[in-house]
Amino acid sequence: MAPKREAFTYGGVSTTYGELAVRTTRLAWRLRELGVRDGDRVAYLGPNHPSFAETMFAAHQLGAVFVPLNFRLTPAEVDYQLADCGAHVLVHAPTHTVDHPRAVSLDDYEEWLAGGSDEEIDEPVELSAPALILYTSGTTGRPKGAVLTHANLVWNTMNLLIGLDLATDDVALVAAPLFHVAALAQTLLPTFIKGGHCVITPRWDVDVCLDLVEKHRVTLMFGVFTMFADVLASPRWPTADLSSLRVLLCGGAPVPESVIHAYQDRGLVFCQGYGLTETAPGATFLEAADSVAWAGSAGTPVFLGDLRLSETGEIEVQGPNVTPGYWNAPEATAAAFTPDGWFRTGDIGLIDNGYLYVLDRVKDMYISGGENVYPAEVENAITAHPDVAEVAVVGVPDERWGEVGYAFVRPREGTEPDPAAIRSFLASRLAKYKVPKHFELVPALPRTGSGKVFKPALRRAARPGSG
Ligand code: AMP
Ligand code: MG
Repeated sequence: MAPKREAFTYGGVSTTYGELAVRTTRLAWRLRELGVRDGDRVAYLGPNHPSFAETMFAAHQLGAVFVPLNFRLTPAEVDYQLADCGAHVLVHAPTHTVDHPRAVSLDDYEEWLAGGSDEEIDEPVELSAPALILYTSGTTGRPKGAVLTHANLVWNTMNLLIGLDLATDDVALVAAPLFHVAALAQTLLPTFIKGGHCVITPRWDVDVCLDLVEKHRVTLMFGVFTMFADVLASPRWPTADLSSLRVLLCGGAPVPESVIHAYQDRGLVFCQGYGLTETAPGATFLEAADSVAWAGSAGTPVFLGDLRLSETGEIEVQGPNVTPGYWNAPEATAAAFTPDGWFRTGDIGLIDNGYLYVLDRVKDMYISGGENVYPAEVENAITAHPDVAEVAVVGVPDERWGEVGYAFVRPREGTEPDPAAIRSFLASRLAKYKVPKHFELVPALPRTGSGKVFKPALRRAARPGSG
């Protein structure tokens, strides 16, 4: 397209589209030498880095499926996902020790890539073929891989371009983790498809990101509300030059209206959306012109997508962006769709004049700093502690993280486990963000008539201030 245009900048170094194409082809050859073929899985583990995008595009050139892993997971959690998808190759940051027969450390990456052939690879890749597997946990506590096809990603990009008017001269800040669907499919891919420029940072750091916004005249920033709240709380907020920012895009969790207003008062366009990994991810979009009149709403369905509420108020979506299902999990896939083929989101909504309000969740999940936490998974890990007879975890409001975990623990007879001991027990078993912030020992858990733990009562009983 335009080989001299900048595709991305990382650590002060820019790479053009021409260079990206050459590097991707060399990488594809190296992957092929490791035995990667059409349909094989290529995993990636590490913070945001240009090699993330290069590995993905190289895998796609071969018709392989790219599997970005959450680098905050413990080695045990990573191993489970690598085994579940049967990753043929793993590209990883040197900070992560991994146990995989074909692992390529980023320490060796440049040299490895440089040895690849420049001969063009021309493998036909079907639009209906899987492009990504993204792990999301579930109500049963076992992570499952949501499959997104090339078509899902293309249609999501179309929806975003229709909603946002993304242009070739847009500069996107990629500061949210790329293993999440939002940074990947809602920021990086649409920007690349338009030939725009991605400024990639390894992690969220408000000062670094404000510097980058000013230096590169960033026009588009995607984030979760914790990030936008950090910018607002920064001492630089009054003086930072944000004049280049054309669109702020926030998703993944409800946003407090005070945050939206603070940005709008500064004349910035603050858009919101609602979506899921399984919808690649955009399901609704609240366009800038509506952001004041419909504050609090997640907007209207994306252009090529449809939305309805079930009898119980659950949001159901349909469209070319919706996943065909979970990797090797026919039962989970069947359970995720209605008999007439709509995807069950597990969220409760209300529609007012066509505008969606996301009110609650049917699924037992809470979101902490943009990361989903599934209580079943946390409960399984805590129950493994010898002094724990039983535990129930709920999400409770938290000023910084949106929500955090609160564990009600019934100790085994004659024991009195120390929360600090449970915490250190969990350190090797659960990613840090999944470890509850609050622990409370209780003599019994409230139950429903059918014997299930009654979580609404626990949510009311939680006293986050005192734990
Ligand atoms: P994920 O698959 O990690 O993208 O998480 C999807 C979930 O995040 C949804 O099912 C919702 O529960 C939640 N979510 C996403 N966007 C919003 C939003 N705008 N408002 C409220 N909840 C949201
Ligand atoms: Mg999320």
